[in-house]
Amino acid sequence: VKVMLGVDIGGTKVAVGAVTREGEIRGKVMTAWTDISGPEGFVRSVVEVLREAEADLDGDILGIGLGCAGTVDWDRGAIIESPNLPIAQEPLRGLVVQALGLPTVLDNDANVAAFAEARVGAARGARHVIMLTLGTGVGGGIVLDGRIFRGASGSAGELGHTIVMGGQDPCMCGRRGCLEAYASGTALERYARQITDGGPPGPSGVALETAEGSLGRNDSEEADYGRALRELREQGRLDGEAVGLLALEGDSAAREAVAEVSRWLGMGLANFANIFNPEVLVVGGGLSTLGELLLAPARDLMRQMAIKPNGELARVEVAMLGNQAGVVGAGLLAWQELGPGV
Ligand SMILES: [Zn+2]
Repeated sequence: VKVMLGVDIGGTKVAVGAVTREGEIRGKVMTAWTDISGPEGFVRSVVEVLREAEADLDGDILGIGLGCAGTVDWDRGAIIESPNLPIAQEPLRGLVVQALGLPTVLDNDANVAAFAEARVGAARGARHVIMLTLGTGVGGGIVLDGRIFRGASGSAGELGHTIVMGGQDPCMCGRRGCLEAYASGTALERYARQITDGGPPGPSGVALETAEGSLGRNDSEEADYGRALRELREQGRLDGEAVGLLALEGDSAAREAVAEVSRWLGMGLANFANIFNPEVLVVGGGLSTLGELLLAPARDLMRQMAIKPNGELARVEVAMLGNQAGVVGAGLLAWQELGPGV
């Protein structure tokens, strides 16, 4: 069977799978820790796992697709800037070609995840798909007419850094007011913290008239409100994941923190519905495990805020491929870019 190696290079781990032309993973997905002590060690650790995969995985390997965290220079096959990998300006694609002798493509990890969802996941069959990956940060991918849209140099699709509150809360990119600062796991943690401080969740320094008493709590509920969040905070375990789990269990304060993420997600989705007029907006990443608790209010708000017919047309779906999206998408991208020639 002919396959491409799909490679998902994250902040701490590399995952490699053999991906068929149809987007199926043959056999197992191999994973290894990445050496992030410096560029040389990093490239060596990636090449090592690729060599192992070449030896161990089933199938006739035709090429390699790399999906990598960071902004990508598509023509040079290099990472320009990565928040958590020591590979700025490294011509990673060329180094992999040199080491493995196989044709290789390199793209952003959120781009290839969007491509996977568009081809064989939650948006299968759609031509125009936007995907947001809500984790610690917010990744974005744009698939137009069945192809990843990369812009002039390859770094389009940074939807998480769409500015929604200019000059306000700091984003991990070092700028302020990005969507990521309001609709990520990091934001969810901050909202929960605001609630334990007795305030409404939201942008810092902005009073929200809607927040106070929005759940219509009575006095006895009032005493319990936020208790579980305060306990988490005292134990030093207050993070986005823990808040999400509490919300799923029905805790009203945790749900209010999630609702604030939903609100910003809905605004983001409305912008993307207006700009791209997609058939499907896919929401993936760790926060998407909250399912409709997160998505339903975001979908409603998107429909209210986007112009007609963009808001009504766009379906909002939870990502289907989970943590395999990177491997599948990188493999499918290799098939699209390299497939005709091999
Ligand atoms: Zn940002």
